[in-house]
Amino acid sequence: MTTRGQWVAQGSCLLCGQVFAFDPSECAPHPWPPHDGPLAPICRPCITEVVNPERRRRGLPVYPILPGAYLDQ
Ligand SMILES: [Zn+2]
Repeated sequence: MTTRGQWVAQGSCLLCGQVFAFDPSECAPHPWPPHDGPLAPICRPCITEVVNPERRRRGLPVYPILPGAYLDQ
């Protein structure tokens, strides 16, 4: 837990493998791809530059990035 009272977890991004810190209560693990694939966190750049554009292209709702989900802010 951080000094701000957030829970913090570290994991490596499902897509790019970069290790990043996130709040597991805000940053949901994303099963992508495939739809029933392994649950793993995805870092912010991959969500905004890879996952959400792909979802938009497929006509799917994009993943919202919740405030406080990523601890790099
Ligand atoms: Zn990534």
